[in-house]
Amino acid sequence: SMRSGPGKFAFFEPEMDAAMNDRAALEIDMRAGIQRGEFIPYFQPIVSLRSGKLHGFECLARWRHPTRGFVSPDVFIPIAEDVGLIQDLSYAILSAACREAREWPAELTLSVNISPLQLTDSWLPERILRTLCETGFPAQRLIVEITESRLVGDFEAARAILTSLRNAGVQIALDDFGTGYSGLKHLRELQFNRVKIDRSFVENIETQENRAIIASILRLSEGLKLTVTAEGVEDARQAAALEALGCPLAQGYLFGRPGDARSALEHARAALAR
Ligand code: C2E
Ligand code: CA
Ligand code: CA
Ligand code: CA
Repeated sequence: SMRSGPGKFAFFEPEMDAAMNDRAALEIDMRAGIQRGEFIPYFQPIVSLRSGKLHGFECLARWRHPTRGFVSPDVFIPIAEDVGLIQDLSYAILSAACREAREWPAELTLSVNISPLQLTDSWLPERILRTLCETGFPAQRLIVEITESRLVGDFEAARAILTSLRNAGVQIALDDFGTGYSGLKHLRELQFNRVKIDRSFVENIETQENRAIIASILRLSEGLKLTVTAEGVEDARQAAALEALGCPLAQGYLFGRPGDARSALEHARAALAR
């Protein structure tokens, strides 16, 4: 609130206090919530722009909180990272997502998000591979997405982890590409297989500047043999512009909102039957 006039300071606004209490409450609920299976995978379709064919789904986590209803990952992921619950949370979601994806037609991919913090855990590849083994989902159909803007810290450790995942057949995608500050260095040195063009470029694709950025990402990706997915495609004009630029894959409300496992399975079966 703006109740503080010139020369006055308002450090303890009531709403700030409430936000802090809220966060503390969510931290406490999170531990129990993981055990109780309150964190569930939602899935959003990824499609080929040219053929309209379904390519796979991205897993987007949701917290079905017993009293608050659905809590957004933008709220609970940062808390999980701060309080050291991100690992437990990630394996719970990965394992649930793989179990669901096992039921899909065999050519579809499953993309999962991992926190850059997890790239400091040298056991990560083994843990992911063990989860694949336990659930029977093949490594070749798994794509791990890592957000560019937050890729910092121990570069060598991250490279070793990504190399062993890749050697096991898992693909690695650089998420939100174009929003970070050292994307090109990451692309080269961490040997990504895929990039995802951030929604902000797609949103304003009618401007010459954004089309030029998307065109150069596509050119670069072709040279580096990276598969490109455009994010946040909401209308047919954006889809047509992306296709004209030669973008192979897209994701967004135009093709489907994130939905629960059952709706993803129905979507997959209907797409296959077409
Ligand atoms: P992201 O990986 O960039 O995921 C894309 C976000 O854009 C999702 O938000 C999705 O619901 C939303 N979206 C998809 N299509 C459209 C569209 O056409 N228009 C608009 N305006 N938005 C669209 P969501 O599900 O709230 O997830 C937010 C972020 O939380 C994700 O961004 C990802 O970074 C993170 N996240 C989600 N699940 C997980 C998880 O299991 N683990 C980790 N570490 N992070 C996760
Ligand atoms: Ca993502
Ligand atoms: Ca993204
Ligand atoms: Ca994002």
